Amino acid sequence: MTEDFPLLPLVSDRCKNRNPVYFWQDVPVVENAHKDPIQLVGGMPNYGFFPVTGANVQLREEPFKGGHDDLSFQINDVSTRDDEVDIKNSFQYSDQNGQIELRNQIKEFVKRVVKPVSNDWDIVCTLGGLDGIMKCFDIFINPGDTVLIEEFTFTPVLNNLVEFGGIPIPIKLNNLIKDHKIDYVDELENMLNNWESIHPNLSKPKMLYTIPNGHNPLGLAQSLDHKKRIYHLAELHNFIILEDEPYSYLNFTKYDETPNYNLTNDEFINSLNPSFTTMDTTGRVIRIETFSKIYAPGLRLGYMVINKSLINLFTKSGELLTRAPSGFSQIFVNNTIIKLGGIEGWIQWITKVRNEYLKRKNHFINSLMKTKAYKEGYLTPIDPNCGMFVSIIINIEKSNEFNGINYNQLMDKFYINSAQIGVLAVLGRNMSVKSEFSTERSNFIRTAISFVDDVSILDLAAQRLSDATCKLFE
Ligand code: PLP
Repeated sequence: MTEDFPLLPLVSDRCKNRNPVYFWQDVPVVENAHKDPIQLVGGMPNYGFFPVTGANVQLREEPFKGGHDDLSFQINDVSTRDDEVDIKNSFQYSDQNGQIELRNQIKEFVKRVVKPVSNDWDIVCTLGGLDGIMKCFDIFINPGDTVLIEEFTFTPVLNNLVEFGGIPIPIKLNNLIKDHKIDYVDELENMLNNWESIHPNLSKPKMLYTIPNGHNPLGLAQSLDHKKRIYHLAELHNFIILEDEPYSYLNFTKYDETPNYNLTNDEFINSLNPSFTTMDTTGRVIRIETFSKIYAPGLRLGYMVINKSLINLFTKSGELLTRAPSGFSQIFVNNTIIKLGGIEGWIQWITKVRNEYLKRKNHFINSLMKTKAYKEGYLTPIDPNCGMFVSIIINIEKSNEFNGINYNQLMDKFYINSAQIGVLAVLGRNMSVKSEFSTERSNFIRTAISFVDDVSILDLAAQRLSDATCKLFE
């Protein structure tokens, strides 16, 4: 990392002072060393000790459909192909940042789909999105450091941050309930310009953690203009943008538009919202991606797009916290991509997953809009731009029992009604950075459309949510 790299002053003391010891350190420099010495160094079992010599994998043609013979492939113990991961290598201790074959595939995907503006980026594989986020906190967060977070968020991130001594600072989402918008540049600008008076005892933030598309829990997206202005603030106040994008590929049209389920790869790519990396000229954006939503969460596999200068920091963090991602997961993902015909085939699979979520999303919103609670104005679904969630605002201010402050009590009542009627969702307040900060905007629930076996169950869920809401108002 060069002296003038803007993220250098942001690196944590923990990470700066990290000085791991290795078996192979502190040996004398050898002149005329043998070119091909016998390796007796690492405690690596020879692959003949592995109990598996091969496996046959059967792929689905599309979500909820079976496969056919053309879609099966063999995982070999030793492969002769350069791009394939084999059992010999993937079951072995391996590269901390991911198998080279998989990293190459991911690089190709990122170039084709994400299109970072600089060429100065690299890929680090992780044990899923949350692991990538945790490693960013490890690398940058000293106890007492602050991180900006949208006031509603994927709350496990908070647990990780607090574990490293970080302090989450919620950003108010003013236009959320009324306009269903994520739009907080003015709010953030004001906070940063008046930091000392608003947060007198806290240091200025090192990082913004953001979910720019298919926001969890809200399902909403930031506009390109919003992103540009946020990036400008990041440059001005020197903070890192942690762009968490587990849902961006599950991208939607509006519920009242006719969906196109036959997108070409180019059309699909063009329909995606541009990443913060497309405007990052100073290496301050870290993009977090995962295979959890487009392949399977049990893989525990994801990756980060980072500036090249950061790679050693991530390598050391990974060595300490987790070691390499599972070879089993890497072999599955890498060789699946090959079987599908490379990156273009992989994009087609992602598009099929996206189509299924889009069908579910539109189906559920339409079901909700047919209910009594919607027609009476008691509930309003937020049409998400991406993802697995439909958040639903419960318009409690219309209830006779609403007194201007009893948000939590009425939402508790709603929860009891819905649990009795037979439908469970997450209360908005449980996805807030600080529930007392967000009380007046927490009259919503987050529903996941991902887990039910069939869309028809979403009709029943909509009906039950309506009944639970009506009971609150009547
Ligand atoms: N980030 C967000 C916004 C999420 O919603 C999730 C999972 O639900 C994750 C990260 C974690 O994903 P992973 O399974 O890759 O750790």
